[in-house]
Amino acid sequence: MSNFNMQGSTTKFLSEFVDGGPGCSRDDCRIQHGASTTTAAYYPPVYDKHGNNLNPDMNTTTTNKRCLSCGKSWNESYQNGKVTII
Ligand SMILES: [Zn+2]
Repeated sequence: MSNFNMQGSTTKFLSEFVDGGPGCSRDDCRIQHGASTTTAAYYPPVYDKHGNNLNPDMNTTTTNKRCLSCGKSWNESYQNGKVTII
């Protein structure tokens, strides 16, 4: 493969990144989960008499994700069942 061809594929790669954002839609997307960090506060569970946890774990886990097909990269933040893309 010549240098010229490698530059051409890089341009295509970047244009997909700009257009698509984190939500990959290609059929061949493979999302790699990278390093993650979690805050370390302690939330002791407190239950009401129906078994509902009144003091859920509110620690935040942030994970870097990267698509091995498109090359898109982003961070996801998870807190108490909710995922946010940051
Ligand atoms: Zn993708």
